[in-house]
Amino acid sequence: MNIIIFGPNGSGKGTQGAVIRQKFNIPHIESGAIFRENIAKGTELGKKAKEYIDRGELVPDEITIPMILNRLKQDDCKNGWLLDGFPRNPSQAKALWEALQKEGMQIDAVVEIVLDRETAKKRIMGRRLCENDPNHPNNIYIDAIKPNGDRCRICGGRLTVRSDDQDEEAINKRHDIYYDEKNGTMAAINFFKELSKKNNGIPRIIEVDGRPPVEEVTKELMSKLEALLK
Ligand code: AMP
Repeated sequence: MNIIIFGPNGSGKGTQGAVIRQKFNIPHIESGAIFRENIAKGTELGKKAKEYIDRGELVPDEITIPMILNRLKQDDCKNGWLLDGFPRNPSQAKALWEALQKEGMQIDAVVEIVLDRETAKKRIMGRRLCENDPNHPNNIYIDAIKPNGDRCRICGGRLTVRSDDQDEEAINKRHDIYYDEKNGTMAAINFFKELSKKNNGIPRIIEVDGRPPVEEVTKELMSKLEALLK
């Protein structure tokens, strides 16, 4: 299975991506993580990318596109891959599509976790971390997982906030890029949707409502992906 996953920050894309990776046993290729690895190792690529990443901007296509296309050619991608964080604009989407066509590779599914901007922002800013267990979900803006006063709703543990979750400016900047239908990630998604319309439903587009609790989103996503295999 070759899958691309889209979803704004706060949509649970990382969590759903991890489930897909396990289920289909394919490498989860995250452009942001590749950049962070290169920065940590001090590679040339890392040095070039760092200044953009630190400013919250996209790394230029000349760096990003070849990096991802090379990654997809590695051995562990032979039986499929899950691409996450790329493409983030229409030119990356087009470059990816053209490169895959050239290699005779196809995209089996383009997954979009659909979540409106306001909800996505609240998801991030309302998140509270339980000191006893980071997997205890608590969010002051989501009724289903509202903390018990100022304590964890599951174990009563003390709650803290992640400082980057409260950086409203950074969240807005990321969402500006994601929800931009002209030059941003939404435009990349629309590129595949248009393609699919013209091309008899290929690549397959799978839209999943990102509003329900994580497990329900996973259930819907998996049933739609499994239907593709039948
Ligand atoms: P992420 O972990 O996906 O949020 O990515 C962290 C940062 O890496 C982003 O804010 C961008 O600066 C950079 N980045 C990740 N993916 C891309 C991409 N497809 N194109 C350009 N820059 C990217």
